[in-house]
Amino acid sequence: MIVGHIGAAFAARRRWPHVSLAILIVASLLPDLLRVLFLPFGLFSQQSNVYTHGVPWIVLIAAASGLIAWRALRSTSAGVAVAVLVLSHVVLDMSSGTKELWRGGPRGLDLDASYWQYEFALEAVVLFAGWWLMRGGGVGRPWRLWRVPVLLLALELGVMVAAVYDRPYAKRCWIYPFAPCDDNNPLAHRWWAFWQPVDLTARRP
Ligand SMILES: [Zn+2]
Repeated sequence: MIVGHIGAAFAARRRWPHVSLAILIVASLLPDLLRVLFLPFGLFSQQSNVYTHGVPWIVLIAAASGLIAWRALRSTSAGVAVAVLVLSHVVLDMSSGTKELWRGGPRGLDLDASYWQYEFALEAVVLFAGWWLMRGGGVGRPWRLWRVPVLLLALELGVMVAAVYDRPYAKRCWIYPFAPCDDNNPLAHRWWAFWQPVDLTARRP
C-alpha cells in the first residue's frame, strides 16, 4: 500500500488542522521510510519488516516519533497525530501485504499480489475519503484540486501494473484471478512484454 497511507494523512489533517501536511505525510509513510534505512545494513526485507512493521517495534517507533514531534514542534496535537499515523500504517498494510503483525502472529491479506483489483479499489477509497475530509477542513488551494488524488491514484496504478507484469505470462491480464487469461476479450488479453521470455507452453492456463 502506498497512496492509501497518504489518504490517512489527509484525513488526519482534517482532525489536526494545525499540523503541517508534510509532517503528516511523512508520519503516514514512516515505517516504509525506515525500512529503506535498513537496506545498507544488509538486512533482508523480511527482517527489516519485523523491525519496522511488527509489534512491539512499531509501538516503540510510534511512541518515539510522537515524542520527537511533540518536543520539536512544541505541539501536543503534532505528537498525537504522528503516533496515530505511524500505527495506522501497519493497520492499512495488513490489507495489502503478507507481513506478520508479530512473530507467529496474524498475517496480512496479501491483496497486493493476489487480488490487486481489490487492493487498488481499497486504496482509491481511502485516498478519496481522506482527501475529501481534508478538502472540507480549510487546506491550501493546491491540495484542494482534483488532480491531487487523481495523480496519486495514477502513481498507484503504475505500481500495480508493474506487479501484474511481474507475473508469469499465463496470468498476466486485467481480469486474473477472477477469470483465466484466455485472450477472449480485452480484459482477459495477456500482456506481452518484450523484456520477458514468453512461455508458449502456457497458452491455456
Ligand atoms: Zn508499509
